[in-house]
Amino acid sequence: MAWDFETEPEFQQKLDWMRAFIDRDLIPLEPILRELPADEWALVRRHLQQQVKDQGLWACHLDPELGGAGFGQMKLALMHELIGRCMYSMEIFGNQAPDSGNTELLAAGANEAQKERWLWPNIEGRLRSAFALTEPFEAGADPTRLRTQARRDGDEWVIDGHKWFCTNGSFADFLIVMAETNPEGRPHRHASMFVVEKGTQGMNIVRDIPTMAHPEPVYGELGNHAEIRFEGCRVPHENLIGQPGDGFVLAQKRLGGGRIHHAMRWIGLAKRALEITCERAVSRESHGRRLADHQMVQDFLYQSRSEIEAARLITFQAAWKMDRIGARAARVDISMAKAYTSRMLLGVLDRGIQVCGAMGYSGDLPLEMWYRVHRFGPIGDGPDEVHKVVVARDTLKGVEPVEGWPSDHVPSLRPAGEQTFARLVAEARSAA
Ligand SMILES: Cc1cc2nc3c(=O)[nH]c(=O)nc-3n(C[C@H](O)[C@H](O)[C@H](O)COP(=O)(O)OP(=O)(O)OC[C@H]3O[C@@H](n4cnc5c(N)ncnc54)[C@H](O)[C@@H]3O)c2cc1C
Repeated sequence: MAWDFETEPEFQQKLDWMRAFIDRDLIPLEPILRELPADEWALVRRHLQQQVKDQGLWACHLDPELGGAGFGQMKLALMHELIGRCMYSMEIFGNQAPDSGNTELLAAGANEAQKERWLWPNIEGRLRSAFALTEPFEAGADPTRLRTQARRDGDEWVIDGHKWFCTNGSFADFLIVMAETNPEGRPHRHASMFVVEKGTQGMNIVRDIPTMAHPEPVYGELGNHAEIRFEGCRVPHENLIGQPGDGFVLAQKRLGGGRIHHAMRWIGLAKRALEITCERAVSRESHGRRLADHQMVQDFLYQSRSEIEAARLITFQAAWKMDRIGARAARVDISMAKAYTSRMLLGVLDRGIQVCGAMGYSGDLPLEMWYRVHRFGPIGDGPDEVHKVVVARDTLKGVEPVEGWPSDHVPSLRPAGEQTFARLVAEARSAA
């Protein structure tokens, strides 16, 4: 019997260390994080990152040859559940998007010289990166529609196009830009990836876009989302990652495990939101009883708890399958985990805000901020609708239409039931 929901004791010790570290040293800084003096925060951040490295827990999503732990997706899922408790802990554990995905794709597609120049410094955190695919008028939910062009001119490529929502685009040391190099190769062999370094002439950063998370972004800050125009932007041929046309093959490298990690962090945050909700529910009274004793509040708690547990099992199954049969074969489970969990988190946060009343709606609790930040979940990384289509198509695979009544039409099934019963009676009599 192979079913097993236990974590091996040695790894549980690592998880226990992570939980204590996050709760003791990271979460307390949240209320003052944006005001910390930059120099001292850089010092403290390195100190915290070093502790993670000493535990062998730095950038664990990477393969062992890149300095990762080679844990596999199940262990990573358990780790990311804890990392999700604190919104900036990815930075401390070396798996901050978009750097995490970019290092994976550079590892898969970059040559040795490119690895020396961009991959290793990116893994070590000495260089920061961004990823520019989405466009305001074309590529979005359907990235194959991208219109940004790169044309070869001698030893250089010339990039022209318009990108936006490039996370860290105004902050990063280099961007990985998807551009069309071969229109005939549509839909999946027409695009290539280029590294464009900060300050390259022709890469014009228009602005950082205001969002629900940051309605008034300060230009150039970590975590902003840039709008960028490429206007005759020239990069040397050495900046092409892989071969011309490899863009979408490489893009896939960023997504499989990353989506499981996203989902597990959302679950971790949902659990913390539920803790806040429960504490308020047992601490405040209305109409003669604790909030926790009102049945509608109990229903909220039931919904949140059971949805968290369901999301957890769906995501663990995706991780387990990815470890055993690979990302491609686990695609449907990964899509289910992504779409289910992104909405689950918003539901848990919304109920939390409701139970905490005016305080929940206010900045005095982190729930409203988490809601604003995570409203991107159902949109980013492939909108939920696209993932739902993947699940629905798989669900319909092999299902044949029937003429007339459905196969389970009860009146139609009665004669077969009567025949089966008569046969079983005869069998039972002869066996008696
Ligand atoms: C916070 C944040 C960070 C981001 N960071 C990056 C980044 O670093 N780099 C980058 O390149 N991009 C980034 N993006 C962009 C993100 O990848 C896109 O928002 C996403 O791919 C959806 O594209 P779109 O917004 O253009 O939506 P559209 O393509 O305009 O789609 C709009 C809506 O249409 C519906 N829809 C679309 N297709 C289908 C379908 N097939 N079936 C049913 N419904 C459908 C969905 O409801 C979807 O939300 C980021 C976005 C956000 C919000």
